[in-house]
Amino acid sequence: MNYEISQRAAALSPSLTLAIDAKAKAMKAAGEDVVGFGAGEPDFDTPQFIKDAADKALAAGFTKYTPSSGIPELRQAIADKFKRENGLTYKPSQIIVSCGGKHSCYNTILATCQEGDEVLIPAPYWLSYPEMVKLAGARPVILPTTDRTEFKVTPAQLRAAITPRTRLLIFNSPSNPTGSVYTPDEVKALGDVCVEKNVLIMSDEIYEHLLYDGAVHKSVASFSTAHQEHTIIVHGFAKAWSMTGWRLGFLAAPEPIAKAIDAVQSHSTSNPTSFAQKGALAAITGPMDHLKTWLAEFDKRRRFAHAKLNSIPGISCVNARGAFYLFPNISGTGLKSTDFCAKLLEAEKVAAVPGIAFGADDYLRLSYATSMANLEKGLERIERFCKSLRK
Ligand SMILES: *Cc1c(COP(=O)(O)O)cnc(C)c1O
Repeated sequence: MNYEISQRAAALSPSLTLAIDAKAKAMKAAGEDVVGFGAGEPDFDTPQFIKDAADKALAAGFTKYTPSSGIPELRQAIADKFKRENGLTYKPSQIIVSCGGKHSCYNTILATCQEGDEVLIPAPYWLSYPEMVKLAGARPVILPTTDRTEFKVTPAQLRAAITPRTRLLIFNSPSNPTGSVYTPDEVKALGDVCVEKNVLIMSDEIYEHLLYDGAVHKSVASFSTAHQEHTIIVHGFAKAWSMTGWRLGFLAAPEPIAKAIDAVQSHSTSNPTSFAQKGALAAITGPMDHLKTWLAEFDKRRRFAHAKLNSIPGISCVNARGAFYLFPNISGTGLKSTDFCAKLLEAEKVAAVPGIAFGADDYLRLSYATSMANLEKGLERIERFCKSLRK
């Protein structure tokens, strides 16, 4: 048998986050006292009213295929959300419910990009973006940024990277992995360039509700009809409702793109899980009271971790304004990110994700979606580790 792997699959980079996570879990299973900062999900449970709605649907036998793009009442409720929270008008036919925000991203890229296309991705980036672009046969073009600009690309940088082959800009604010949030003016300026140059924008707004220090989220689609016509908003229930395991995302797109995504989805996954959609319907039409508690807790941890990191020799950290990550600069330690993380796990049993996984080798990603006690313990260990490097 010839087990030659397809070029598409062979071109993928294995996930470094998952590799670190596997090693940390194995150490934990062996009884070691590991502190994990790798989590890409809230450490809170899904709110009870959402679970109840899904329970009820399951008990009532809502267990069959639904339309592949989601149940009509959920698509309508998502359209209502965009009107209510973002001032954007979409028809339900422009809304697609998918099996997670990641799935929304993948289907968007698959429906819009192909061989010969270039896709602009600001770095540090969510690590799946370049791999999805490669799966579509297109070429990722990375726009590097540093902590000096709070990890934001400028309109001039964007303009300089656009070629006749540029098809799509992938934009993610608030950002995973940096927690950086573009101001409305900054978002508009980047959107203006894309409209002028006729480049589509995939705007990943999954962290829209997780903001601190008075930061404001404004969707790039909301500045004008032209901006909306150039934008696909991808979103999901994973973060603001802590529903990572439910696998439910959604997107809003111009009609022809929504139609193409519907076709892709109908021949791959078909509909997202039927009764989970009923939970999502409860989530998006229900109260957001849980978020107040979560945000207060995240904010407390963010402030603590940010201050502590900046007191550690060799580390400097700009503050995050959104999501639940900090992205400290470790260049002062003399180590690159993979080496730093491997040694840190070995010496102090702390698991963090090396920045190289996100296209930035002088940084680490620390998730503060973990208890304050863990945060205190883990940061003490990082401090001891960094001090040991100086001896
Ligand atoms: C978590 C996340 C998603 C979506 O995750 P799903 O679990 O697939 O809903 C999308 N984009 C970013 C940047 C994320 O961090």
